[in-house]
Amino acid sequence: MAELFIDGRWRAALGGRTREIRCPADGSLVAVVDEAGGKDVLDAIAAARRAFDEGPWPHTPGAERGDLLLRVAELLVRDKPALARAESLDTGKRLVESEADLDDIAACFRYFGRLAGTEDGRVTDPGVPAVDSRIVHEPVGVCALITPWNYPLLQTAWKVAPALAAGNAFVLKPSELTPHTAVALVRLLQEAGLPDGVANLVLGAGPEVGAPLADHPDVDLVSFTGGLATGRRIMAAAAGTVKRVALELGGKNPNIVFADADFEAAVDHALTAVFLHSGQVCSAGARLLVEDALHDRLVDEVVRRARLIRLGGPFDEHARTGPLISAEHRAKVEAYVAAGLAEGAVLRCGGARPDDPALAGGFYYLPTVLDGCHGAMSVVREESFGPVLTVERFTDEDEAVRLANDTVYGLAGAVWTTDQARADRVGSALRLGTVWINDYHPYLPQAEWGGFKQSGNGRELGPTGLAEYRETKHIWRNTAPKAQYWFE
Ligand code: NAD
Repeated sequence: MAELFIDGRWRAALGGRTREIRCPADGSLVAVVDEAGGKDVLDAIAAARRAFDEGPWPHTPGAERGDLLLRVAELLVRDKPALARAESLDTGKRLVESEADLDDIAACFRYFGRLAGTEDGRVTDPGVPAVDSRIVHEPVGVCALITPWNYPLLQTAWKVAPALAAGNAFVLKPSELTPHTAVALVRLLQEAGLPDGVANLVLGAGPEVGAPLADHPDVDLVSFTGGLATGRRIMAAAAGTVKRVALELGGKNPNIVFADADFEAAVDHALTAVFLHSGQVCSAGARLLVEDALHDRLVDEVVRRARLIRLGGPFDEHARTGPLISAEHRAKVEAYVAAGLAEGAVLRCGGARPDDPALAGGFYYLPTVLDGCHGAMSVVREESFGPVLTVERFTDEDEAVRLANDTVYGLAGAVWTTDQARADRVGSALRLGTVWINDYHPYLPQAEWGGFKQSGNGRELGPTGLAEYRETKHIWRNTAPKAQYWFE
């Protein structure tokens, strides 16, 4: 056991604290890992600070930093089977989904690897004789990178790759529930030749290990992906030292289906939108908004097919979705469904744990459809983050947009219609960071990802994803200075 990585060395936690990691699919023990204490966190921040202030990395040419990221991408491809397996054991996610995540993770490193070598400053014309003016980009400094459990390595890659491309040093804190692929990634960074102290890894729970990162004066930026309540806490903690804060928070994402939609495609995607990874996806299409005329036919078909979705562990080739991350999380999902039913929702399917004894050791919950929902229900307003689809009806375009936007969140959502003009109108009226038209869930490394409203203030991926980790400096140079005294 030596899963903390501080100043280029693996070490066990100074306080000797450990945590058992158990697979959510069956409760089996995956491993026992070290958990950092206060001194470990301080050491990690100090190491990153030194590496940034005194080390070579921030001054390494962008193209060289990019080459290192491209090497990491190759190592990720080499180790894909082991990494996908580790991710599935920690999360309970189907192996094929972890494998697909690994492809996206390598693509992310490739994207920022290439961008690191091409993005640079610019010269401006100040319009003043004998003066030149340049805009240059510099790394922000020491970054705290705090990530969730639902896409552990993917969310980590979205932070680590641009942070390194920009020349920062960092302290990474993955979710305490899913630490293994972060450990593996740091080993790959080491193998690729990253200088000591640039990457530091501390494992442990949020209040003990994450919170000290958010308010420490030597941390310049906190990039956080996780829940809204935690995001608010981090923003408040960071205020004391006016850190840069990039938040990627939750979503309660509308999937809007008009009566003229391609029916088969809309049904397929309505199911994938919400039941992929048992709904534990920030962009899950958990709110189905259906035009009146199509409501009964669409919901009947969604329910019929939701009942057929087979649950199982990561290595069950017949399973189509897996367990929830923990017993506590399942209890939270159950409470949202109970609240929805108490508030008048109609249970169309699910609403219970599966009765298959083979699944009894895991934290499974049946794909659930609640019809007759409205925007005042907590199950519609708040993120259950489980396999729970709420259905609302609308009569026209204006009402669809009004219902969809009636939420504190603004992460993502979709519009299904064969009327392209309507698709464009609705797409531009939605207050969402990503709008899919006749599709659900795809994203691109070169297209920015992030939320409007309380889904966050950050942007990941794309050129703005790199900009999050850079300061911009204006350098004004007077080539013919003259004496000029103001106070006579
Ligand atoms: P969470 O907020 O409970 O935890 C996220 C991370 O923050 C973990 O590493 C946790 O240990 C840490 N943390 C907890 N309390 C902290 C504190 N006080 N100070 C510092 N760090 C602290 O979220 P979760 O349950 O791990 O993840 C699920 C959430 O993540 C969902 O809300 C989901 O929508 C969101 N998410 C958003 C995106 C996005 O791109 N917007 C992507 C994935 C997940």
